[in-house]
Amino acid sequence: MLQETQLTLKPDLAVDYLFDAHSKREYEEYIQKTVQYIKAFLDNDCFYSGESVEMLKSRKEGISVNSETNMSVDQALREVKDIFLDHAISFHHPNYVAHLNCPVLLPALVGDLIASSVNTAIETWDQSTSATLIEQEIIRWICHEMNFPSQSDGVFTSGGTQSNFKALLMARDHYAFTHYGINLKENGWSNEVSKFRIFCSEKSHFSIKKNAALLGMGYDSVIPVGTDEEMKMKTDALVQAIEKEKQQGNIPIAIVATAGTTDFGSFDPLETISKIAREYNIWFHVDGAYGGCYVLTDSHKHLLNGVEHADSMTIDFHKTLFQPVCSSAFLVRDKKYFRYISYYADYLNPLESRDEEHPNLIEKSIQTTRRFDALKLWFTLKVTGAKTLGSFLEAVHYLALDVYDSIKDDIYFEVAHRPELSTIVFRFKIPEISDEKKLDEVNLNIKNTLFNSGKASVASTKVNDKIYLKFTLLNPRSTKEDLFEIIKMIKEQGITYTTNN
Ligand SMILES: *Cc1c(COP(=O)(O)O)cnc(C)c1O
Repeated sequence: MLQETQLTLKPDLAVDYLFDAHSKREYEEYIQKTVQYIKAFLDNDCFYSGESVEMLKSRKEGISVNSETNMSVDQALREVKDIFLDHAISFHHPNYVAHLNCPVLLPALVGDLIASSVNTAIETWDQSTSATLIEQEIIRWICHEMNFPSQSDGVFTSGGTQSNFKALLMARDHYAFTHYGINLKENGWSNEVSKFRIFCSEKSHFSIKKNAALLGMGYDSVIPVGTDEEMKMKTDALVQAIEKEKQQGNIPIAIVATAGTTDFGSFDPLETISKIAREYNIWFHVDGAYGGCYVLTDSHKHLLNGVEHADSMTIDFHKTLFQPVCSSAFLVRDKKYFRYISYYADYLNPLESRDEEHPNLIEKSIQTTRRFDALKLWFTLKVTGAKTLGSFLEAVHYLALDVYDSIKDDIYFEVAHRPELSTIVFRFKIPEISDEKKLDEVNLNIKNTLFNSGKASVASTKVNDKIYLKFTLLNPRSTKEDLFEIIKMIKEQGITYTTNN
């Protein structure tokens, strides 16, 4: 009987796929084979094959899985090349200048391979041991870079969106608790919450509004504040907006300043905003998903002055520290704020066995099972070093200025701002065409044509309701010649399209 059970459970081959002491040889072999395929991906000429959606969908047989699927690793690798690697977007390619996706560093990949293979779960001490210490050390390091006080703390998150969520949750619960003695975590909804108001610049990330809605406060709780010609929050407008909401009987609870807006890389004036937050006794959150890592530069560090007064901060290492997704952190100036999130589960982290010596990071996270994402950054800091990372960030900033200088006086371009970080927002124009809708159409055509041909990936955004193009520069190996080449393609396509239409 026993033998029979074992037989059905143990077709030899299948067990060999488990990562354990029996499969060391296979592990090495598969990794080596995989590396060959990844190297071939690096040899792709274009940032994208340019395959149409119809062509990609036509490979649905390769994509499909069903309960009978059973192929060798070699077969599956060939398949994945065909359906994915040959058509994946190369963020390391100099002609990829669209979004906040960075090329990644080799030390980070080594760290990530270890983290994925060992598969540490970082939520409790008994699952993570020293992994917890490594994550805490990275948090300590970045809090120190930000000049946060000694009682500061933080935790890794899935990204800026989740970090901003936690910030608004804390702002909401902290206000309700300190002003009304209401414990939202335990008791749930209170009518006061519908009057809560959050202030951020009109250029802030959409996740502020989205999270406000997820937290039961609604889009309407987020009050957009106007920005100046450098795309920074106007602080007099901020005070006016707060006063206006108060007059209407609403309750200001938080200000979100952005350190590096997604489109313009602009830094809100943190020092002044921190004083306003203190005056009104409300939460001060800094969204540094994009610009936070510029604390490592000499050129931009001063723009983060004032962040040390923040109650909480978002920082994304997968945006600007050359880390594979996910690598991101949420920081607080006082570790006791985590009580708005903590939960004690009998089977994981019972309250009665709480022990500072054996910390359970789950108390700071809204996730339960969580990857050991800090390891790749630890590896990077040890090998690449923070100074080099800072110099990469400066390099991409200067590239953005090179592009700015090359097009600011060009009659075919209109530039929306002088780059403060590494993005530049601009628009192709034809001097004789004043119809804005026509120019919107031309700019969208440029973006789509360059993408579909695999020539370049440029982003688009809206400024004052007009379509603009955007470069987000994150590749320190790019040269200004690479970028001028894209500018040339944009101009050529813009002229071709307007001539033919
Ligand atoms: C990208 C971005 C976010 C969201 O971060 P994710 O890691 O994509 O979730 C939040 N704020 C700003 C300013 C960003 O640029």
